[in-house]
Amino acid sequence: MNAPLCRDVRYDRAMDRPTRYRALAPWLLETFGAPVHRVALDAGSSCPNRDGAKGRGGCVYCDVEGSGTGAWKRGDELARQLELGLARVARRGADAKAIAYFQSYSNTYVSIERLQEVLYVTLPHLGSRIVALSIATRPDTLSDDALTLLAEWNRRVPVWVELGLEVADDALLVAINRLHTVADFEDAVRRAKARGLGTVGHAILGLPGDGREGARRTARTLAASGVDGVKAHHLMVLRRTILEKWWREGRVETLDVGTYVAWLTDFVEELGEEQVLHRITADASDDELLAPKWTVHKNDVRTLLEAELERRGTRQGSARAAAARP
Ligand code: SF4
Repeated sequence: MNAPLCRDVRYDRAMDRPTRYRALAPWLLETFGAPVHRVALDAGSSCPNRDGAKGRGGCVYCDVEGSGTGAWKRGDELARQLELGLARVARRGADAKAIAYFQSYSNTYVSIERLQEVLYVTLPHLGSRIVALSIATRPDTLSDDALTLLAEWNRRVPVWVELGLEVADDALLVAINRLHTVADFEDAVRRAKARGLGTVGHAILGLPGDGREGARRTARTLAASGVDGVKAHHLMVLRRTILEKWWREGRVETLDVGTYVAWLTDFVEELGEEQVLHRITADASDDELLAPKWTVHKNDVRTLLEAELERRGTRQGSARAAAARP
C-alpha cells in the first residue's frame, strides 16, 4: 500500500487534548480526576482458537503470548505482575491511578471460580490505586455466569469488557481464523451493556481482503453496537504468527502510515461522536515486529489524525451524523 510518508510530523503535546475526536486520556482525567495508566496483566488464560475447542493456531495475527505480555509463561504470578505495575504507576505521580487490564488471551474462557480468583488479586488496591478493571475476551466466550460475576464486581469498581470484533465481515473472520461472527460480537455487547458493564470494541485496519471500505464498515458496526469505547490499530506482522508465513510468501501487504491515517480518519468519522477512542495504534517490540516498520512514533499518529480531520473539515461521528440526516 503506498501513500506519501509523513516525515515531518512531530508529536504535539496539545494533541493530548484533541478537539476533533474523543481521546482516552482527557476522558480518564475528567472521569477519575487524576491521570490513569493501564497495568497490563497476563492471568495465564487460554483461548478456544488455540486449544482446539474452535480452532488451532490462533488468529492469524496473534502471537503465542495471546496478544499480551507473556508474563505468565515467564513465571510471573499475577499478584507480582500487579505489584510491579502499580509501582510503575506510582512513580508517575502520587495521584496517578491505574486500570487493571487483563489483556492476554480470552480472560472469561475459564471457570467462574478461576475468574473470581483472578479478580480477587485486585481487591487490596480497589479504592486506592486501581480505579477500573478491564477484561479482554472473545465475544463467544462471555457466558451469562461470567457476566453475572463481572456485574457483581462492577458494584465495587467500574468493570469494562473488551471484546474483539477486529473486522465486521463474517467471511473474513473465518479467513483470519478468528472463528466467531459479527452477530456473536453484537450479542456479547448487548448482554454486557444490559448488565451495566462498560464495553470496548477492538478493530484492526488493513486485514488481508478488507480494505478502506472494510474499515468504514467495521466502524459503522462498532457505532451501531453502542460500545462505549473503541480500540483500533493497523495490521502488524509479528514473529511466530500465521501472518508471518503469509507475509514471507508475499500474500500480505501492510499499510504505510499515510494510508493508515487516511483510513483511520474515515473510521473515526463513522464512529459515534460519544464513543471514546482508547487506542489508535498498537505496540510491538522491534524484535517481534516484522512489518510495517514505521519511522513515526505512535504519538505522531494522534497529531496526524487530528490534522487530517481538520484538513477535511470533519470530526468524529460526522459521517454517521450525515448518513442519519433525512
Ligand atoms: S482470540 Fe485473542 S488470544 Fe485467541 S488467538 Fe485470537 S487474538 Fe489470540
